[in-house]
Amino acid sequence: MTTTPTIELKPSSAPLSDAEREAILANPGFGRHFTDHMVTIKWTEGRGWHDAELTPYAPLSMDPANMTLHYAQEIFEGLKAYRRPDGTVSLFRPESNAERFQLSARRLAMPELPVETFVAACDALVRQDIDWVPEHGGESSLYLRPFMIANEVGLGVKPANEYLFIVIASPAGAYFPGGVRPVSIWLSEDRVRAVPGGIGFAKTGGNYAASLLAQAEAAEKGCDQVAYLDAVEHKWVEELGGMNLYFVYGDRIVTPELTGSLLAGITRDSLLRLAEDLGYTAEEGRLTIDDWRRDSENGTLTEVFACGTAAVITPVGLVKSRDGEWTQSDGKPGEVTLRLRKALLDIQTGAAEDVHGWTHHLG
Ligand SMILES: *Cc1c(COP(=O)(O)O)cnc(C)c1O
Repeated sequence: MTTTPTIELKPSSAPLSDAEREAILANPGFGRHFTDHMVTIKWTEGRGWHDAELTPYAPLSMDPANMTLHYAQEIFEGLKAYRRPDGTVSLFRPESNAERFQLSARRLAMPELPVETFVAACDALVRQDIDWVPEHGGESSLYLRPFMIANEVGLGVKPANEYLFIVIASPAGAYFPGGVRPVSIWLSEDRVRAVPGGIGFAKTGGNYAASLLAQAEAAEKGCDQVAYLDAVEHKWVEELGGMNLYFVYGDRIVTPELTGSLLAGITRDSLLRLAEDLGYTAEEGRLTIDDWRRDSENGTLTEVFACGTAAVITPVGLVKSRDGEWTQSDGKPGEVTLRLRKALLDIQTGAAEDVHGWTHHLG
């Protein structure tokens, strides 16, 4: 059933005051504050998608035997709405998020939400809470979090017969308020994030749950993020817990190929194309931790950066592993990294022309 339900608008009679909202927007952080509304759409076996509503942001009431709480049938997305120089608002590649959401749904045995319904739900929420989209300039945005959970009650193990799709929104400040800061990476040589044939390519909470212990270990080692290796040979570099990786060899940039255990980032994909516009060669390839260390030390690997919707592009300045540590690019953000970061952000915020058709203007 692929009918697109119309979203019924039931806005809040008591949204936050302008002053309260402005106070939050002055220092939003990330994922700490939520806008006045949310969109919910239900799915029931035999009936498909129905009851699409925009309502005041509110807690869900949930049966303790809701299947999501026990068997983790959950998927999510993350995308940003930016204020453009002319004051209008646009989303960046929401159809790509919608398509990936369908891919994740298939893998988790959940129903696929039509692409146009996903985008319409995001549009409706941003339009309603448009005052929550920060001003143009800086790197602030309104982060959208579409997600889907099982909504059947019971402890029997099977795909649920009811689901709930929800979109919430949270204002996000500049990821690096004091300027771009390189992060340190812990190379996880034992713990893996995802396995061949598993759910690594799906955007699902389970992958994050699997990554938290290694993340805590990284923090103990004084590192910001974990880099995961493949689960079979424990040598091929895959990605971070929530960001893809790029390796810069002069004017050639390389990102680990999508083997099925990596998440296909939309930022990663955008950079593959944007890099070519800027005169770099961009390719997908394979790289071991030994390659990473050797090429850093002999200077051929000039920069490394991570990329994803939340931080856009984050330079890597230090790598630590069981066998020691090495500095990457003198611990400073590299030239190629910063150039790609600015080019991508300029398209996302409307400061530069978008020749790729990635911008989704709010109708
Ligand atoms: C979301 C995510 C990314 C980045 O994807 P974008 O579409 O660029 O935001 C990378 N890795 C993992 C594991 C993710 O969940």
